[in-house]
Amino acid sequence: MHPTLAGDLSRLPELLQRARDFAAREVSGLGDRPVSHRDPAPVPAGLPGEGAGAEGALARFAEAWAPGFSGSAGPRYLGFVTGGATPASVTGDWLTAAYDQNVSGSAGSWAAALERETVAWLRELFGLGDAHSGAFVTGATVSTTVGLAVAREWLGERLGVDVSREGAAALGPVEVLSGSPHSSVSKALSVLGVGRDRLRRVPLLPGGREAVDVDALESALAALDGRPAIVVANAGTVDTVDFDDLRAVAALKERYDFWLHVDAAFGGFAALSPAHAHLVDGLDAADSVCVDLHKWLNVPYDAAVQFTRRRDLQVRVFHNASPYLGAPTGEPDFLHLTPENSRRLRALPAWFSLVAYGRAGHREIVERNVELAVRLGEGIAALDGLRLLAPVRLNVVCFTLADDPTAARVAALADAVAASGEAFLTPTVYGGVPALRAAFSNWRTTRADGERVLRALASAPGTHG
Ligand SMILES: *Cc1c(COP(=O)(O)O)cnc(C)c1O
Repeated sequence: MHPTLAGDLSRLPELLQRARDFAAREVSGLGDRPVSHRDPAPVPAGLPGEGAGAEGALARFAEAWAPGFSGSAGPRYLGFVTGGATPASVTGDWLTAAYDQNVSGSAGSWAAALERETVAWLRELFGLGDAHSGAFVTGATVSTTVGLAVAREWLGERLGVDVSREGAAALGPVEVLSGSPHSSVSKALSVLGVGRDRLRRVPLLPGGREAVDVDALESALAALDGRPAIVVANAGTVDTVDFDDLRAVAALKERYDFWLHVDAAFGGFAALSPAHAHLVDGLDAADSVCVDLHKWLNVPYDAAVQFTRRRDLQVRVFHNASPYLGAPTGEPDFLHLTPENSRRLRALPAWFSLVAYGRAGHREIVERNVELAVRLGEGIAALDGLRLLAPVRLNVVCFTLADDPTAARVAALADAVAASGEAFLTPTVYGGVPALRAAFSNWRTTRADGERVLRALASAPGTHG
């Protein structure tokens, strides 16, 4: 063994303790750390010839790189839909690395069974029934890619084509219908050989809504003359957190032949709040469901779950049969269910967080975030210089400048807020208007944080006309 490696092995517990101390310092300062960094990153260094040992590596990281890491896990980072990492989930994540299990299969370890237990808990948390099976993947994009891959196989079943053998081209042109799809849907269609251009936008409800007009969806399905299709319903759009009427969309299955995929990346968490659970009524009727976990469950990147009612088709797409890996029989191993073969125990952080805080703890995070979004929305509506672009339906506030909201002026407002170090918001364009979004999904965010965000907005130069 190389002497540096041997030295690290002999001091392993001490090295882990140092890493713990370093992480504890960083995490306890998270609330005060600037939310984002704008200075350029260090120039890339050359490959080390002789290593510095784990302690040397930690010292170099602390000096050269850590100062430029963002406070995105902290309470006032409201860009995208981000989320942080609960204390228990960080513990689970550390142990995932420490144990370094390969959860491709079940051989010789209980790790895969732990993932199954966690998936079953999540299924219950989101109100899905036993007919849905699931697996962990790296994020909502991959979750949707898996769901749409199973949908593609289902189209083959309807048309008498074995897509996994013959390829997507054997299906001919595929119809994919959706109201306000997230950009990850076109990405998935590109990856799957269906094609980005096959995604057809169905008209939305009037009044600036992002929810699909179910009558228009019905007309689009009727026009297919019985050809099977894929419908992507959206449960929580990123700009205004609008929800398709999932029950009404699912009811169309009685008359039309389609696979229903629901993107509930963060909107699925409405199920945790009795006041908002109606927004995801009907989710269980979906054929496949995508829910992100690194957003509103507040577990570290990268984690999401995918669910489907057709595990048989899923295995047809993803099976990886080989004498040395074993065939997919009985309860299929995870390597036969998702794009990965070897995979980390991504479930452990979620398992820890669910054991630590339970349904009640995670419900409190969701409800607090929603309350903070509503308050910020009220505060923004009361400012002369800003105006809301949509009602605050859940955890995102979408707003713009009251006067002359050009892209440049809105970007300058976002920059001024980021430069204050107080908050980080990301821009969008909503209904053709350049706008900003403040998305609440972090477990640490308090009322005091919400007030700081409002003050940062109110005192930014652009806000005063
Ligand atoms: C964030 C998000 C995605 C993509 O999620 P990743 O985890 O970044 O892949 C897809 N759909 C919606 C609605 C989202 O909010």
